[in-house]
Amino acid sequence: MTATRVLVLNSGSSSVKYQLLDMRKGGRLASGLVERIGERTSRLRHTPLAAGGDTREWTGPIADHGAALKAVAEELARDGLGLDSPELAAIGHRVVHGGKLFTEPTVVDDTVLAEIERLIPVAPLHNPANLTGIRTARALRPDLPQVAVFDTAFHTTMPEAAARYAIDVETADAHRVRRYGFHGTSHAYVSRATAKLLGRTPEEVNVIVLHLGNGASASAVEGGRCVDTSMGLTPLEGLVMGTRSGDVDPAVIFHLARVGGMSIDEIDTLLNKKSGLVGLCGDNDMREIRRRIDEGDVRAKLAFDIYIHRLKKYIGAYYAVLGRVDAVAFTAGVGENAAEVRAAAVAGLETLGLAVDGGLNAVRGDEPRLISPAGARVAVAVVPTDEELEIATQTYALVGRN
Ligand code: ADP
Repeated sequence: MTATRVLVLNSGSSSVKYQLLDMRKGGRLASGLVERIGERTSRLRHTPLAAGGDTREWTGPIADHGAALKAVAEELARDGLGLDSPELAAIGHRVVHGGKLFTEPTVVDDTVLAEIERLIPVAPLHNPANLTGIRTARALRPDLPQVAVFDTAFHTTMPEAAARYAIDVETADAHRVRRYGFHGTSHAYVSRATAKLLGRTPEEVNVIVLHLGNGASASAVEGGRCVDTSMGLTPLEGLVMGTRSGDVDPAVIFHLARVGGMSIDEIDTLLNKKSGLVGLCGDNDMREIRRRIDEGDVRAKLAFDIYIHRLKKYIGAYYAVLGRVDAVAFTAGVGENAAEVRAAAVAGLETLGLAVDGGLNAVRGDEPRLISPAGARVAVAVVPTDEELEIATQTYALVGRN
């Protein structure tokens, strides 16, 4: 029997998201989430998609990632999809930081694990959890290929002019300070799906991808290769996000330390967790912000305007970086759902060939679609992202041809 299934694991510090896909049939067999790992009220939600069954939910203590994965394995086994199945070809893991070295999905061995560990100082919030996920899965199925798919990989094609900060080269290199970029799996998937929507190959088109979720990033993709992206050393740089500030003058940090008396950790928390939309108006959900704006809320309106202003600046910047733009693609929670954000982001950019058709923009749906007027010079598109499918595809491409 040929093994055609891939389990995709996205391990966070206190959560594990998973999907089981069949790569031959292209279908999703199961998906789920374990949350609040390590607490007394951990929760598992499992949806047996293939069986067409209802979501099963379970609450109780799940001590660690090992216990979480065992619970997931039990749920899968109940649907006849156990991890001991010979049909399972590999486990694909989302790994946030792959540094400069990992330019491709990689089969995990001890050397790869050690390198991901070495990157912890540049990804202290993410890589430890990703590592735990890999180690746990490996212990459960030591015989199975475990593949690491890196958020940074797609961005490793950025030229040095885009990837380097203009700081002392020796200092930067000694501490591996450079722009790595994140959400790469999504940018790769969406840029390719946009080319397909246009009936062209990825090599033929230049695309600006706007991944607007709770975290948000933009990228400039030239003929299928990333040439610039808005996140940097960490996912803090760039666009205004749900709770992250995005770009600020670095001197804001010195000022808050010297004049504001804040510690480095306090400033870190401020910029990562208490800034962005939440810092500006108290809400990070775009639906709630739109509702407040409709009620005349001035702070919500200002937060929205700052969000849009930054987005527009990046569209302009990446237009200049690319020279010729064939498409602008909106994706992720806000990009796929918030028509007002899409309309506002390109408003006034008609001379760049950018516009949205009000009617098309208002249509909701799960499929990639154009929202620019017929005959527009630049296509504006909504392209739902699918990071799990992309991780599974890359994983299977690496190990599945047996
Ligand atoms: P994450 O970065 O957590 O993966 P998502 O891509 O799921 O985020 O995006 C989550 C965000 O999407 C929410 O915080 C909310 O602002 C936005 N969002 C989700 N649904 C809608 C909607 N129907 N209208 C506007 N915004 C939405």
